[in-house]
Amino acid sequence: MSPIDQLLREDLRGRTAYGAPQLDVPFALNTNESSYAVPPAVVDDIVAAVAATAGGLNRYPDREFTDLRGDLAAYLSRSGTQVRPEQVWAGNGSNEVLLHLLQAFGGHGRTALGFTPAYSMHPIITATTGTTWVDGMRGIDARDGGGGGAFDLSLESAVQQVREHDPHVVFLCSPNNPTGTALTLDVVTAVHDAAPRAVVVVDEAYAEFARPGTVSALSLLEGRPRLVVTRTMSKAFAFAGGRLGYLAADPELVDALRLVRMPYHLSSPAQAVARAVLRHADTMLGTVDAIKEQRDRIVATLSGLGLDPVPSDANFVLFGGLRDSATTWQALLDKGVLVRDVGIDHYLRVTAGTPEETSAFLDAVANLGPDHL
Ligand code: PMP
Repeated sequence: MSPIDQLLREDLRGRTAYGAPQLDVPFALNTNESSYAVPPAVVDDIVAAVAATAGGLNRYPDREFTDLRGDLAAYLSRSGTQVRPEQVWAGNGSNEVLLHLLQAFGGHGRTALGFTPAYSMHPIITATTGTTWVDGMRGIDARDGGGGGAFDLSLESAVQQVREHDPHVVFLCSPNNPTGTALTLDVVTAVHDAAPRAVVVVDEAYAEFARPGTVSALSLLEGRPRLVVTRTMSKAFAFAGGRLGYLAADPELVDALRLVRMPYHLSSPAQAVARAVLRHADTMLGTVDAIKEQRDRIVATLSGLGLDPVPSDANFVLFGGLRDSATTWQALLDKGVLVRDVGIDHYLRVTAGTPEETSAFLDAVANLGPDHL
């Protein structure tokens, strides 16, 4: 054991950090970012917004990010569910928002349950807060491989696992990363009702990409003070570099998060830039339909190639039918296409990008050769 390992918290020893490769490749389709650059008109507004804060940087920012809360509440209210500013919390990416939730409602002696395969940061953030992670399963154990249905989380299975573990925090992820599958609202309400002492977090990072018929859990917030819906501007808003994630929940739950956040955690420029981008919400979300089109094209084309793509409500596609994920991952990288090996045997995940990027990916797959399938 190294000297640093000896100093490190016992529960962190031997753990590996989150590590999606950041490689300089022609086609980076591995972290579900938007491939579309911020349009010049929005860039101008961002620059003006930063300039307006610059002279006041001698002062701390508004600790309660009041104006930004209002803007985020107004954006969420476009869903048809009215969301008030006091129901909104924000952080440096939804990862930080999830951290705040675990700091406040998890901790030593408490458990958080998630249904894997799901977002890999859920267990990592859980562990950093000393919360015990309970590795639930989706439907049947999807890690053994199998078709798309293998990744569904059935209501019965979810309720049974929640009852068995009686967790303090439950993670639902809809649309789910890495499978792209969404939950119906009856699963969310059933899990909520089966976990009487849990804060139930529905991670909706990809909500804007959902197919018609998939409904956000925002509509369930009223009357459920333990329910939380997390969102991010990293995906549909094409704002991953801006680091702005947020949640909607009961005002009292939101208020409790003030106990754990660092004072002034959102800088004045960060708040101003996010507000500038939200003023251009329609422009920023204008590429969502094009991305969904490429996502559906990926599913259709990979099926035609004899692979096993999972129908997706997100901006990425998980596809199976590969002999060996690692070998195919490397072969695609050799062709300049970086996708994600999410640790599910025989599967890889690809982000839906521009039509050109999608073509490059699909061509690379088509030319892999028979020993990959
Ligand atoms: N939730 C899910 C399901 C995600 O896939 C991601 C990013 N990959 C996040 C949350 C975190 O995103 P961010 O911190 O950029 O908001």
